[in-house]
This record gives sequence, structure tokens and C-alpha cells, in this order.
Amino acid sequence: MADIIQLLPDHVANQIAAGEVVQRPASVVKELLENAIDAGALTIKLIIKDAGKTLIQVIDDGKGMSETDARLSFERHATSKIRTADDLFQLDTKGFRGEALASIAAIAHVELKTKQEGDDVGNVIVIEGSNVVSQEVVVTPKGTSVSVKNLFFNIPARRNFLKSNTVELRHVIDEFQRVALAHPDISFALYNNGSESFNLPVSNYRQRIVNIFGNKTNERLVPVEEETEVLDISGFVGKPEFAKKTRGEQYFFVNNRFIKSAYLNHAIASAFDGLLKNGTHPSYFLNLTVDPQTIDINIHPTKTEIKFDDEHTLYALLRSAVKHSLGQFNIAPVLDFERDPNLDTPYDYKNNTANVPKIEVDRSFNPFQDDTQPKTRTTTTTTYKKEPAANWESLYVGLESKGTQTDQDFSEVHFESEESTPSIFDDEKQVESGNTTHQLHNKYIVSTIKSGMLVIDQHRAHQRILYEELLKNMTVKEAVSQQLLFPLQLHFSAQEITIVKQLKADLENTGFVFSNIDEESVEITGVPVSVPESEVSIILEQLMSDVENEVPDSSFSATDLLAKSMAKSLAIKTGQSLQKDEQEHLVNKLFACKEPNISPTNRSTFITLSVDELDKKFL
Ligand code: ADP
Ligand code: MG
Repeated sequence: MADIIQLLPDHVANQIAAGEVVQRPASVVKELLENAIDAGALTIKLIIKDAGKTLIQVIDDGKGMSETDARLSFERHATSKIRTADDLFQLDTKGFRGEALASIAAIAHVELKTKQEGDDVGNVIVIEGSNVVSQEVVVTPKGTSVSVKNLFFNIPARRNFLKSNTVELRHVIDEFQRVALAHPDISFALYNNGSESFNLPVSNYRQRIVNIFGNKTNERLVPVEEETEVLDISGFVGKPEFAKKTRGEQYFFVNNRFIKSAYLNHAIASAFDGLLKNGTHPSYFLNLTVDPQTIDINIHPTKTEIKFDDEHTLYALLRSAVKHSLGQFNIAPVLDFERDPNLDTPYDYKNNTANVPKIEVDRSFNPFQDDTQPKTRTTTTTTYKKEPAANWESLYVGLESKGTQTDQDFSEVHFESEESTPSIFDDEKQVESGNTTHQLHNKYIVSTIKSGMLVIDQHRAHQRILYEELLKNMTVKEAVSQQLLFPLQLHFSAQEITIVKQLKADLENTGFVFSNIDEESVEITGVPVSVPESEVSIILEQLMSDVENEVPDSSFSATDLLAKSMAKSLAIKTGQSLQKDEQEHLVNKLFACKEPNISPTNRSTFITLSVDELDKKFL
């Protein structure tokens, strides 16, 4: 039989490799920025058009390339950064695979202009889908400029797979910020569709963070410094009260390389134990410096994950360094590293002012007198009563309604007491009158219906109710807002401000009142009645992240998205216990909805179990 194995032609191999290296415009941005840093640039400019789909250009003032190197740089496995496998463990450059330029040139139109220090002229090479179209001499400043146009022009499937410009731009900005954060000693600029989005001069680390995330960030940062034999840690963590609902501002750099590590992230989260509001995540910007011999960055093609020799030690060091800083800056209540977390002040009580203990002496108290009428003995402001043992439960009654958030949150939601309109749903689904509801695991509400039983997911059901209410408010523009006593000043990044401006009209229709929106902050004087003031920033943050990350162009409707996002933030959560009447209101309101059976994100809100089905189970 004839031989059938062949070597793939280079351009095919490059296209396959490109699949690994280049997933989206942001991947190209990362590779080009890293090349510029490896070339020793002091100033790097990134120019983007249409979120990088039309153009990504990186201009640097680094060492440039010779004529031959310029041509060779597009060959696969062509690199100036390693020579032997051993070099992999001594890496002080970002790149080392020699694949990026070859991969990018396989799937885009690329123009490279480069000149070395001291040369009179430089070179320009144009490559389209791995074919060199031209190579000429050109007058150009020292350094390198790479333009990547029409990404995925020859792979329509990949091009169609790209997300909306909003989403792709978010990824590009993320990548840009990661690289810029790792290198405050280099100046960076980002131009998007002709206007300047970032201009970051050379500065110290703190200033770089502030330049990227806005002036308000400054006072939120707590420095972390720790030098040990295995590891140096430096950087900042955000104060717990500014923790975010989304995991946005979490940055680890190992030897100046951005990495993701769920394990190390956990180390930090555990250092914040007891200091964070439920569901919020601490911000951090931490640089770890380790001996390159002790890490392996080679396990992931896009290099955001690395393997450490001794992860356990890193975990412990990181955790104690962060705890130490929080303690030193008086953020954590106790300095003791090994303290019992159960002794920490629960978040809810943290902001309460402490009561000054009052000492009252009960002069009539006689320890030898066996009185049947219990006397009240007050030592502090807390009152201890000798109650008959049978009444012990009553001690917890007050605690329950104050301590759990459930009741408060629920009351904010304002269920109207109007009866549901039964005609909207078929009587099959109608909750039989006079029947009570039950809450199961603080998650489901169970009730009987004519044909059997109904199990409702409380969180999804409430999302549906709020979603329809919000949509109605936005369309009829009759939302009622509550005036705030003091205007609320919220700080956002430039990108987020753009989103607020886009959604301003819709937000106003839900009841928000904006008195001012400037470049980095928003002033709010009124909020929808259903929104507690303390939740405003969390709701808006959630909204930003929904707009940036989750919405493809096609189904994008700002109004709908806003309603979905707010419904998600405001809906009662799984785990909240509900009173009987609250359960009933929820059920009634749900079935008064236009589409009671699905949540705004198209998930079932309830299931029914008929008597027939139950019968079958008992066969
Ligand atoms: P790697 O970075 O892994 O070596 P690349 O494909 O990204 O592989 O780049 C190939 C080579 O091209 C690099 O090793 C470097 O020598 C050269 N090169 C790429 N970009 C630049 C640049 N901006 N300035 C100078 N040299 C560059
Ligand atoms: Mg590279």
C-alpha cells in the first residue's frame, strides 16, 4: 500500500497554530505588547479600530530588527529569546515560543516596520495570510510598528464567532491593563477609534493603578510588602468596604507576567475572611517575584497559568502577608494570624457604633434571697433575665428579625397586596385557595394545585416578577423614585461612564435620578423605590459587568438588559427564608405575570408534579 502520511505545508501548520495563539483581537494585542516589552521599549502605543477587528497596531521605541530578522520573525519557531531547552527555566522575557508573529500573519494582513538604532533606514514587510507581499526599505523611527488588519479574513467561521465590539473591546482593554499594570516603568497609550482612551506616563506602581482605575482608587489601596527567601510579595489590596460584586479588579503578576490562579486567589479571599459583605470580592494588585527556576510557565499556550514548585508555601505566605497588611492598617479587627474566624465581628454589626457599657449596681440584690419573681440585673446595656426555661426560644425572637437580612431585604421589595388576576393563567396552575404554601430549604416554595403540586424556584420566580415590573416602568415611564437625603457619589472607570451614559434614559425610567455625570463619577439624587440605597452601587456594578461581558450584538436591547440585570440583583436569593404571607404574595405575583413559567434568562421558574405522576412513583 502506498504511504499516506505527509508533512503539512507551512501555511496550513501556521493556521492551525494560530487557532491556539489567537482567539480574538485581545490575543493579538497581548502578543504584540509583549514583543514590544521584550524589545526593551520605553514607550508603547496601541491603536485599535472596531475593537481590533479592523486594525490592531502596536508602535514601540524598542531595539528594532535587522532586515534578515524582520523576515525571519514571521517563521514558525523563530525566536531570539531561547536557544536551548534549559533557557526555558531562566526566562526573563515574555515570549519564547516564536509562534506569535507566524500565527498572526497566517490569519490577517500584517505590516511590519522596523529600524534598529544607528541604521539610516528601516524595513517594511507586508504579509497576507502567510504570503510575503512585499519587503522594502523605508524611512521610519527607531523601533517597531506592527499593524494587524482584517483579523481572520481567511477564516470566516472564526470571524463570525467574534463577539460584539463592546465585548471584544472589553477584552482588549483588559489585556492592555494587565500589561500596563505589570510595567509601570514603561509609558503606554491606547487609542480607540481615533480617540485616546488611556495615557499612562512612567510612574510608580500605585500611581499606575490610579491612572488606570481612577483617582478614587488611591484611598482604597492598602500596601502589601513581604520579603521572604522563596518569594517577594509587593503591591496592594483594596480595603474590604470597597470590595466588588464582580471579580473585576483582581491581578496577580508573577515575575511581571499576569497569571490566573484560583488557588492563590483563595489564599487572598481567606485573608479577607469575615471582612467582606456576602457575595463581594476583594480587589488586589499583587506582584510575586520568585526564582524563575521554581516555576513552569509552559503549561498553557496562552500563558496565563503557571505551575509553581511549592504552591502550599506560596499560599501560606500570601495569606499571611495580606492578613498582616489588613491588620497593620487597622482594617482587620485582630492582628493575630491564627485567630479563630468565629470571633470576627460579623459584617452586619461592623458599622454599628459600640455601646458604652453602663454599670448599674442593683443595691437591693441579695444573693441569699431565693426570689420567685426574677429580678433584672443589668451589668451592661444588655439585659439578662432569669426566665423560666420553657421560654428560652423567645430569647431568639428579636435576634431573628434583626440579624438575618431576609426580612429587611424582602420588605424593600414592596409586594403589593392586590390579589392576582386568575384569568391570566389557566386554573390548572392556580394555587388552590385556602391552601398554604411551604418553603423548602429556603429555596423552593411548594404548594398544591388542582392536579397535584407545584414547586417554585423562589429566586427565578422573583426575577420574573421584577423583570416585568421594571420593563413596564421603563416603557410607561411612570416609575416612582425616592429622593435621597444626600446625593450619592459613585466612581467609575471611563469605560463604565460610557455605559452609564448609554443607559441613562432607561435608568431614569426605572426611577434613578442623576444630577451629574462627569468623566469619572456619577452623582445620584434619586433611586427607584424598590432599590435600597446601600444596594445602588452593587446594582450598577452588576449592570456594567453584564453589559460588558454577556451581551452579543444581535439580541442587544439596552432596556431589556437593564431590566434583566436589575431583576437579577434585586430578586430574593436562594437561602432567604420567607414568611408565609411573603410566600403567598410571591406565588400570586408570579402567576399574574405575562410569562410566569420562565425566568428572564429563560429558565423554568416552577415545575408541577401531577397526582398521576406521584401515583406512578408509588407503584
Ligand atoms: P517570541 O516572542 O516568542 O520570540 P514572536 O513570534 O512573538 O516570538 O516574535 C519572534 C521574534 O521577532 C522575537 O523573538 C523577536 O526577536 C522579534 N520581534 C518581534 N516583535 C518585535 C519587536 N516589537 N521589536 C523587536 N523585535 C521583535
Ligand atoms: Mg512574542
